[in-house]
Amino acid sequence: EAKSKKGAGYRVYDATMNLKVMKKVELEAEARVALRESQFSLALQPQIDLRTNELIGFEALLRWYHPVKGTISPAEFIPSLENTSFMLELDYWVIAKATYLIRELNANGYPNVKLAINLSAGQFLDPSLPDFLQQQIIRNDISPSQVCLELTETVLVTDIERATSIMRTIRDMGCTLAIDDFGTGYSSLSYLKSLPADFIKIDRSFVANIVENADDRNIVHSTIAMVRKMGLIVVAEGIETAEQFEMLCHFDCQMGQGYLISRPIPEPDIWTTLSKNVHMGIWDSTRSNE
Ligand code: C2E
Ligand code: MG
Ligand code: MG
Ligand code: MG
Repeated sequence: EAKSKKGAGYRVYDATMNLKVMKKVELEAEARVALRESQFSLALQPQIDLRTNELIGFEALLRWYHPVKGTISPAEFIPSLENTSFMLELDYWVIAKATYLIRELNANGYPNVKLAINLSAGQFLDPSLPDFLQQQIIRNDISPSQVCLELTETVLVTDIERATSIMRTIRDMGCTLAIDDFGTGYSSLSYLKSLPADFIKIDRSFVANIVENADDRNIVHSTIAMVRKMGLIVVAEGIETAEQFEMLCHFDCQMGQGYLISRPIPEPDIWTTLSKNVHMGIWDSTRSNE
């Protein structure tokens, strides 16, 4: 695409480059407009029980459909928006939207599914988070156990005591917590034992190499064993091949998600995809990714 516009000089760059060179304030301004104009939505990636293929729930992943730049990945805009006042606004929009989607899922024949919501560092430490979450749960008449909040290790290590206390509050409400991208942070394993979490998500950078790389395989294998011994549920992310799936099963990993099972489902496709792929609560991977 960029090639065809050759000659337009410095203005030739693709959508992602455009975004990277954009100043933080410009991006923030553009994102504000985007939220008003409904350019954001949530894609849902199925999370299944690896042994039974039961559909446990979904991870809600933010999508920005820009009218000119096309789909912009959250990996592109979330880091730049982090610590802006708009990030908090967007985060709360995500919670409102996700809890509304749970209501819709309940009403459409998926009454017990969980939705995992990614939190930014700023939102997790924001004093209004527990009340807002509670409010949305009541408003949408859903069970708090259907809401899982995903936190990264970096969020936790900044202020472990404060983080632990917020986690307790959220769990007392009946929601669950997942530690996302586990293994990529700088934290020690010992902090895990005091952490009130329910799920540990093994980062996909480890999963990607378990078949070929003995070190990654050993890390994943022993992480699964350790996390299970602590009574937590292990979720493997980024499962792309049948070999990875089988190895994780063999290591007794309870849950997983990844392109092999399903790509994140864009919001407009949710109902047709679910009716095609879910039969009596079981996810049929052979029918996805068609
Ligand atoms: P994450 O929470 O670790 O999400 C997993 C990412 O891996 C997602 O990227 C997902 O689309 C991708 N993925 C899933 N399965 C596979 C696979 O088999 N192979 C590969 N290569 N990738 C896979 P995505 O949607 O681009 O999101 C990137 C990150 O942006 C997320 O990482 C999360 O940290 C952040 N994010 C996404 N949605 C939100 C949100 O609503 N709020 C906040 N604060 N952050 C979000
Ligand atoms: Mg996540
Ligand atoms: Mg993750
Ligand atoms: Mg990750």
